[in-house]
Amino acid sequence: MTPLACRVLGHRPRFWAEGATLLWECDRDCSAGSSREYATAADAESYARALDREDRDDLGRRSIISLMPLRLLRRRG
Ligand SMILES: [Zn+2]
Repeated sequence: MTPLACRVLGHRPRFWAEGATLLWECDRDCSAGSSREYATAADAESYARALDREDRDDLGRRSIISLMPLRLLRRRG
């Protein structure tokens, strides 16, 4: 079952590297997640670091925008 926050805001992926494998899993303990193989451990590590940072910046902006309609709905109800 997908948490409400994931359905409204989208998943909150956390990226990390294990050897040459880049992995991500939703930070809200839902079942979303995946992995991808890279040529070297250094590649996987740098992608994990870049994606984790970029995604957190992006989510910060996106959640502010996404929460606004919810507040309006609650006020009306
Ligand atoms: Zn999720």
